[in-house]
Amino acid sequence: MASEKEAALAAVPSDSPTIFDKIINKEIPSKVVYEDDKVLAFRDIAPQAPTHIVLIPKVKDGLTGLSKAEERHCEILGLLLYTAKLVAKQEGLDDGFRVVINDGPNGCQSVYHLHLHLLGGRQMNWPPG
Ligand code: AMP
Repeated sequence: MASEKEAALAAVPSDSPTIFDKIINKEIPSKVVYEDDKVLAFRDIAPQAPTHIVLIPKVKDGLTGLSKAEERHCEILGLLLYTAKLVAKQEGLDDGFRVVINDGPNGCQSVYHLHLHLLGGRQMNWPPG
């Protein structure tokens, strides 16, 4: 299987539907840990920590990545961050956690539907790779 970096470098930035649309539409299975009318959170298929959850907006609205954010996206961006906190609590990450947004090829983004990674359950290091 391609590494995350290889997958990211091979990914073509676009506004086309992604695998996350299939997850939202329940066309492919995922391990959902949180869902409301605006946000879906599910376990990453290739976890990088004991807890690794992906949070996405259910409506992409042009948000292929954070670099495409416009003022109208402020509400959903804040909601995603707040939901990350709720899910961290739900997952028992009481000693801390990390939230990551990869953007573009240099940021190692492989899926062009804005998403937050919630990582926890182990000691994180700094700087990230
Ligand atoms: P990024 O590299 O920041 O674009 O993150 C995309 C993430 O989506 C990666 O961590 C992948 O492991 C994850 N991913 C891709 N396909 C699936 C899937 N079908 N179910 C869960 N996670 C997925």
